[in-house]
Amino acid sequence: MSQLILKGINKKYENAEHYSVQDFNIEIEQGELIVLVGPSGCGKSTTLRMIAGLEDITEGEFILDGEVVNDKSSKERDIAMVFQSYALYPHMSVEENVGYGLKLRKTDKQEMGKLVSKVSEDLGLTPYLERKPKDLSGGQRQRVALGRAMVRTPKLYLMDEPLSNLDAKLRTVMRTEISRMHREKGVITIYVTHDQTEAMTMADRIVVMSMGEVQQIGTPRELYNNPKNIFVATFIGQPQMNIVRGEFDGQNFNCDAFSIALPEGDAKQLSDLGYQGKQIVLGVRQQNIRDEQLYKDAFPGSKFTATPVNIEYLGDHVSAFFEVEKGNLFCAKLSTSTDAVVDTPHEFVVEGTKLYYFDPETENAIFYK
Ligand code: ADP
Ligand code: MG
Repeated sequence: MSQLILKGINKKYENAEHYSVQDFNIEIEQGELIVLVGPSGCGKSTTLRMIAGLEDITEGEFILDGEVVNDKSSKERDIAMVFQSYALYPHMSVEENVGYGLKLRKTDKQEMGKLVSKVSEDLGLTPYLERKPKDLSGGQRQRVALGRAMVRTPKLYLMDEPLSNLDAKLRTVMRTEISRMHREKGVITIYVTHDQTEAMTMADRIVVMSMGEVQQIGTPRELYNNPKNIFVATFIGQPQMNIVRGEFDGQNFNCDAFSIALPEGDAKQLSDLGYQGKQIVLGVRQQNIRDEQLYKDAFPGSKFTATPVNIEYLGDHVSAFFEVEKGNLFCAKLSTSTDAVVDTPHEFVVEGTKLYYFDPETENAIFYK
């Protein structure tokens, strides 16, 4: 059973002014697939490289199976890694590349043959075993790099954007394959990506990072339903959550574009927390802005009229965009039977059961549901 603990991990590069990673804390249990996600430069790779032993940990402790391993080498930590740049050995065949880690560890020849054929089969590499990397496509090379890591059963798998060189279709196939192989092995996997869809679909738990700091850790469901702050709310979930600042008068939320009654329970909580007469930030997901009569009847207090500046037909739904303040477009995900027309005032309704509220100063969620 493996267990991994990061305790107050900080990283400041030698010549850097600022910390690249600040106060990173997590406990990871056997078999978990953890995804670090966040925009470029937020410290994901730095965190992964510290875990890998490729970068020093400036402050804090990395504990693997009860032992502080800050000063241990990558090899001693027993980690297999996959990076975006696959760095295969050009003079070796696919088979030799995949088996290389096993050969280094002096694995029995027969055993090695079995493991290499199994992983090659799983990754669809069997027809190319004799080829050299230069005779493979980008996607095939990336699969060889994955195979090279997954052929072993280390204490930890670390993957840094391993799919970002692949086209969208292959990425979808590969992320299923990685999840499946991870489940089969039951080895802790830490996977880095800037792509929230990859995070949502693969992770047992997601760590959302921004500017070197962990914003929130939770299951995909937890982060989607209960984002801790505006950053997480707008980063997690496709399509993106709409947010707008306005005033809460004790019952209604009023912004330039609309005024809607908030559900009684929400209004009471906001009032109890002292937000009456104050500015708040309202968050509403695209699928919770509707225009069907059924919803208008159910939420009569939260109807409003707005003029779509753009309407996109997407086959299974229609996206209608309207401006709520300068430079802030709300998007409503409507049914394809909508009669909304561009540049023509249209009546919308906010489904009042699924609203999010944030403090405009701290940007934190005002309360959790
Ligand atoms: P991510 O992987 O999330 O895109 P990184 O971990 O690569 O982010 O980078 C986090 C921050 O640390 C960035 O501001 C980056 O410029 C800085 N950084 C990364 N590597 C180095 C380095 N070797 N020396 C100095 N600063 C670095
Ligand atoms: Mg990176």
